[in-house]
Amino acid sequence: MKLINKLAHLFSGSPQDSSFLIDVQCGRCGEVIQARIDWNNDLSAEYGEDEREMTYYCRKVLIGKRDCYLPVEIELRFDARRNLTGKQIKGGKFVEV
Ligand SMILES: [Zn+2]
Repeated sequence: MKLINKLAHLFSGSPQDSSFLIDVQCGRCGEVIQARIDWNNDLSAEYGEDEREMTYYCRKVLIGKRDCYLPVEIELRFDARRNLTGKQIKGGKFVEV
């Protein structure tokens, strides 16, 4: 119950802050795929030994609209303040804006 209250508090920001977009490029066909990461649904909270050291983890598999269907798998990590601290990708690359 304690955990649920904590999460509810963290995610009570304004609606426009509830998601963000990230662009990846398929490693086979080059299609740029835009992924919407929803803070409320796509992130898992992870706790360290010290409860204050909470981090977030997100894993998503993206498939483009062309015929290649190669799955592009992304893994994102965030600190407690939702700053991106790490990202990994398989099957493609991140498109730097
Ligand atoms: Zn592709």
